[in-house]
Amino acid sequence: MPIKVNIQLLERETEHLVGELPAAEISEGYGDNLISFAHPLHYDLEVERQPQGILATGELRLPITCQCRRCLKSFEDSVEIPDFAALAPLDGEDAITCEGDFADLTPFLREDIYLLLPTNPLCSPNCPGLVKPSEAGVSDSEPPEESGGSPWAALDQLKL
Ligand SMILES: [Zn+2]
Repeated sequence: MPIKVNIQLLERETEHLVGELPAAEISEGYGDNLISFAHPLHYDLEVERQPQGILATGELRLPITCQCRRCLKSFEDSVEIPDFAALAPLDGEDAITCEGDFADLTPFLREDIYLLLPTNPLCSPNCPGLVKPSEAGVSDSEPPEESGGSPWAALDQLKL
């Protein structure tokens, strides 16, 4: 179910929306394969009619599954937005979509959440990345070739 508000009712009163938006509604059109959505978005929003459009303020929380950019391991994370605010205009190019009396806030939430997703997910700030068994113990900053001799000799020295 998308998040919809009755714009006729909003003319008279503020609406309080609490619920969950299914993961499929969030991932629609999302192209980054480092982040996936397995859980619904939790929302707790006050929606009010403003002269410029429909204002939604409140809290959003979205559990996400990230893939570490360095070691490619999957890990769970979440995006928490305690002070979410979005203004959905009623006219113009970016106007909110209305069906009858109902306006769909979902695209506005989706857009704001995308902006807050990690673009460079790491399982931990000092993730070592993919460590191949043959490279274990060799530091990137000291290539074995530097000694001028056989790379294997340098490698043996590093292992001492
Ligand atoms: Zn990692």
